[in-house]
Amino acid sequence: MQEVIDEHSGKFEPREERGQKSSSLVLVSETTTGYRVDPPASSGAVFSLIRQGIAQTRRDISRFTSLAPSTVSLRVEALIDEGLIEEAEREGSTGGRQPRVLRVRGEAGTVASAALGARHFTLALADMVGRPIDVTEVPIDVASGPTVIVDKIWSSVEAALARCGLAPSSLRGIALGVPAPVDSRLGTVSSSAQLPGWDHLDLYALLRGHTPTPAVIENDANLLAMAEHRLAGPAVENMLAVKVGGRIGSGIIAGGHLYTGASGAAGEISHSATDGVSFIHCSCGTENCLESVASGSAIIARLRGEGFDITTTADLIALSSAGTPAAIEALRDSGKRVGEVLAEVVNFLNPNLVVFGGSLSAADAFVAAVRGTVFQRCLPIVTAGLEVKVGLAGPDAEAQGGINLILERILTPEAIDRAIAQSRQAVA
Ligand SMILES: [Zn+2]
Repeated sequence: MQEVIDEHSGKFEPREERGQKSSSLVLVSETTTGYRVDPPASSGAVFSLIRQGIAQTRRDISRFTSLAPSTVSLRVEALIDEGLIEEAEREGSTGGRQPRVLRVRGEAGTVASAALGARHFTLALADMVGRPIDVTEVPIDVASGPTVIVDKIWSSVEAALARCGLAPSSLRGIALGVPAPVDSRLGTVSSSAQLPGWDHLDLYALLRGHTPTPAVIENDANLLAMAEHRLAGPAVENMLAVKVGGRIGSGIIAGGHLYTGASGAAGEISHSATDGVSFIHCSCGTENCLESVASGSAIIARLRGEGFDITTTADLIALSSAGTPAAIEALRDSGKRVGEVLAEVVNFLNPNLVVFGGSLSAADAFVAAVRGTVFQRCLPIVTAGLEVKVGLAGPDAEAQGGINLILERILTPEAIDRAIAQSRQAVA
C-alpha cells in the first residue's frame, strides 16, 4: 500500500497498489483452531477483529491475539477514546454475568459514494458500519465534461450531508465509481466510450480540488463485485460480477479480494472479439467486439433498425416484459454472445459464483441465455460447484460497493493505529 500523508488533513491517503489485495484482514490468519492475530496485536488489529465480527468481547480478543487481559483493556480503551468502538450489554441480556459486547460505532463518521452512469449518478451516504443514511439519484449531462460533473458530485455530497443534519467534518472518505477502466492506484480514468473527454483524466486530482478527505476511484463493475461479494459472504472467495446495461463490464473477486489487474483493466470483457454482427460502432478497434454486438446499446440499435421506437435499456426491458418476440429474441441472441465470452473467462478463473447486475439483468431471456451458454461451454470440473444468477444488491449496487470499498481502505489496522497515534500527539 502506497501511503501519502495529505498536507491539508494529515490523513492517510488510500491510493491502492495495482492489483493489490484490498482487505483489512491482513494481520489475521485462519488456523485449524480459528483466527489468530500475529503478536503483538495493535489497537488497529484489535479493531479489525471487532469490525469483522470475529471478536465480540474482551475475552474473544484475548483468545485470538494471546494478549494479556490488561493489554487487551489498553487496546480497547484506546479505540473507545478514539470514538471508534463502543461497549454495550448484549442485546436480550437478562442480567447475570454476561460479558459486554464490543462493536464499531456507526456514528464515528460518514462515508459517501457516487456511482456514475450515462445519464445520472447515484449518491449514497453511509455510516462507519456501512449502514445507508441517504441515497439520491442526480441527473447529469455527460457531454458537460468531467469538471462540471465532479463539481456536481461534490455539491451533492455537501447537500446530502446538510439534508441529513451531518457536519461536513464528519465525512471520512469518498468513493467514485465510473463506467470505464480505472487505474485505482493513481485515480485516473484510462479510456471510456461512455465518457467522452475523460480519457487519461486525473479524476483524483479533480476531486482533490474540492476535498482533502481520503478517496478511492474505481470501475463500476468492480464496485458491483464488491457489493455482491459482501452479500454472498466470505465463503465465496472467487466470483465474477457482470454488469450488463448500455455497456458490458465485469469485476473479479479472487481469493476473497478485488482483483484489478496491472492497469485496472481486469474484467474488461466488453471489447473481446465475437462471431456476432455489430449493431453500433465501437472505437476499440476490435471487429465485432462484444459491446458492439451484445450490449444494451447494441440491442436497442438492432430493434430500432427493426422499427421499434426505443432509446433506453428501460424501454428495452419494458418491450421484453410485454412479451414482444423481437425483443426477447434480441436479448436471447445477446445473452448467447455474452455467455460465449464469459465461458472462456469462467473456464480460466474457475469461480464459485457469477452474478449479474445492471439493467439487462432484469431480462429473464438474457440471463437464461447467458447461463445456458456458460454451462454448455464450460468444463464439468468448472461447472460442478458453479452458481450463475442475478445479483442481490439491486439498482444501487455500485454505490453500495463504493461504500464497502472506501470503508475497507480507511479502516485498515495501519490507518486506525495512525489515527490513534495522531490523537495522542495532539493531546501531548
Ligand atoms: Zn469495442
